[in-house]
Amino acid sequence: MRACVLTATGPDHLEITDVPDARVPQGGEVRLAIRAAALNHLDLFVAAGMPGSALQFPHVMGADGAGVVESVGPGVTAVRVGDRVFLNPGISDYSCEFCRAGEHSLCVAYKLLGEHLPGTMAELVTVPVANVALMPRLSPELSWGEAAAFSLVTLTAWRMLVTRAQLKAGETVLVWGIGGGVSLAAMRIAKLRGAKVIVTSSSDAKLQQARRLGADVTLNYQTQKVPQEVRALTDKRGVDVVVENAGEATWDDSLRCLARGGRLVTCGATTGPRVTLDLRRLFWHHWSLLGSTMGNAAEYAEIVRLLGQGQLRPIVDRVYPLAEARAAYERLAKGEQLGKVVVEVP
Ligand SMILES: [Zn+2]
Repeated sequence: MRACVLTATGPDHLEITDVPDARVPQGGEVRLAIRAAALNHLDLFVAAGMPGSALQFPHVMGADGAGVVESVGPGVTAVRVGDRVFLNPGISDYSCEFCRAGEHSLCVAYKLLGEHLPGTMAELVTVPVANVALMPRLSPELSWGEAAAFSLVTLTAWRMLVTRAQLKAGETVLVWGIGGGVSLAAMRIAKLRGAKVIVTSSSDAKLQQARRLGADVTLNYQTQKVPQEVRALTDKRGVDVVVENAGEATWDDSLRCLARGGRLVTCGATTGPRVTLDLRRLFWHHWSLLGSTMGNAAEYAEIVRLLGQGQLRPIVDRVYPLAEARAAYERLAKGEQLGKVVVEVP
């Protein structure tokens, strides 16, 4: 099968080439003929080399994907060959203590497609049937690219805001870096939940797009001091929830923006993982610092249900053919996008 693979550690080692087909599906598994895959920051980290990672090269890249069910393993009844589906890239063992409690993204054997397992940027991928969802009928019809772009960022942002931060209607949320997929999904989920959303970017063009997509307030973090602006906008109170995924570059300012009783929820450290914290401010202000990764099966079912109602339809930034997958990586690496960068598989 044709695939975008990593042949050695480092983004210079991304290649479009032929590799053996994804394996024949076993019990409870399906094999998909991929039509589109979407990129995430995860793909950049995998290409650059993750700490402790032990990839077998050539490694097929890509976490998110959508396509047609090509074959099914024994015992699969939820989908049939020919069904149009998209997938949840988080693969659990569905048997450990955390899975039995319904917390699949806390699974002790949690694996992500394209990170620990062969990914979606290929003509075929094999996954548990529990990880696929039927594409809803929408008007206008959901494209392959939109379907591929949906799962990872929407699931991540949903768990962060709804489950972890317990966001309520009428609260105010600060979202950093609105060009990023999780940030954009977080903004739209926060609006759907009736919150007021302040977003940041270094690009005025992206801030303008964010206003069109529902942002209440936009701040350019290169030309404006975000904590001062947030204090001014909230009568010195600060925001109820901060959505973080930058880490070192934004952490101190995130805390300066946080109200008493505020919740900071983070799913990433794109600018570095080491931050400092004055514990006196943490306890005095009754702050909650919350970590979050991906989401469980119930959360995934909920966002799929919302998509079926036409909510949270993904924003696709640009679509590249598989042959030009390296250009797609470069666009993401340069942070030029607003919305998801997609690779179509012919
Ligand atoms: Zn488990």
